[in-house]
Amino acid sequence: MAGTLSLAKYSIGVGDRFARQGKPQLQACRMAAEQGVEVIPVWNKSNREHTIIGSSPAGTRAAADEAVRTLGWSRPYHVDADHINLKTVDNFMEACDFFTIDVADVIGRPSEPARSQAFAEGHWELLGELRIPGVARPFHIDRDFMARVANKYLAAVQEAGLIYRRVEAQKGKGQFITEVSMDETDSPQTPAELLIILAALAEEGIPIQTIAPKFSGRFDKGVDYVGDLAKFTEEFSNDVAAIAFAVRQYGMSSNLKLSIHSGSDKFSLYGPIHRILKEMDAGVHLKTAGTSWLEELIGLAEAGGEGLELAKEIYAQACSLREELCAPYAAVINIDAARLPAPESVGRWSPQQFVSALRHDPKSTDYNPSLRQLLHVGFKVAAKMGNRYLDLLSLTETIIAKNVTTNLFDRHIKPLFIGE
Ligand SMILES: [Zn+2]
Repeated sequence: MAGTLSLAKYSIGVGDRFARQGKPQLQACRMAAEQGVEVIPVWNKSNREHTIIGSSPAGTRAAADEAVRTLGWSRPYHVDADHINLKTVDNFMEACDFFTIDVADVIGRPSEPARSQAFAEGHWELLGELRIPGVARPFHIDRDFMARVANKYLAAVQEAGLIYRRVEAQKGKGQFITEVSMDETDSPQTPAELLIILAALAEEGIPIQTIAPKFSGRFDKGVDYVGDLAKFTEEFSNDVAAIAFAVRQYGMSSNLKLSIHSGSDKFSLYGPIHRILKEMDAGVHLKTAGTSWLEELIGLAEAGGEGLELAKEIYAQACSLREELCAPYAAVINIDAARLPAPESVGRWSPQQFVSALRHDPKSTDYNPSLRQLLHVGFKVAAKMGNRYLDLLSLTETIIAKNVTTNLFDRHIKPLFIGE
């Protein structure tokens, strides 16, 4: 439909803690375009991050606009109100054209029995042995299962409807992209559950273009996937098939696709996902957040001198504030405290030692995932340093930019979207 804002097949969420890396991030998308693969950048930042840093959505918008102007990017780009709910959405209204509606907190709130009943009776097409193109083993959905899933998710879907309509009333229909996220919850959703949730979202009239389920396995911040790769691959492929089915069956947006949250650095998943996307002609949205902030630290350390000293100081402070820093991210980090080097010994490290401990190179024996995760959540320390941190970013801009672009392009865009 003309005039409707539509999310491209391939897109990447480039979270940028301090709104300083827009240009090098966009440069990575430009390199993909030069290879004939369009990957649309979406600057995502959650209310949680804005609160910790003391920034505002307007700042994210300004940095994105400036990067686009400077690099002469003529393709679409978006600013994502990441993980918003009814309480936080208003603050993002003006600056954003992409809204990730987070209803994880409402999952499991019982819905009205009559509503669950009516939903289950209205979706006979899903009952029994459901054969879907692209799914090897048919789904078995009986009335009990349907009722259980409806009872678990219908209230969350209704809440998503409330939030969606609030944005629609302000921004206008078709003027923004809608994602619904259910990833920050305890138990993963199976492909059959996803299908039922999609049916409910369609019924609620939410024109979602992307949906973030919780996949099985661990998606810890800034480190590789931990879980059963074969199981994930089958699940992801079945999710893609379920989405294609829902698009046909319920007339959902034809570009509807999966969104992968905490997607940065899930290197072992990129190959299988790329293969599935090619085989099934599907798109994906990959959210990375924090991976660029870690490249800022790598760049600072690599620069040596004051930069290296500041990186070491951030690590030392992060160690002493570990519990406070980790608390908001408890479900998505897994730090082995015994593997954290003492700040005093880090204090004696060369630039190279700091860089190789922090940089996510799975083949390197110096790479330390615990140190990386602690620093991942340690951006609050840098935020508190204020201009001292930001001024050093400016001084070491070139070396940081090189790291940010290389990380996004070589380690994320290439294996996932281009397939190398
Ligand atoms: Zn998320």
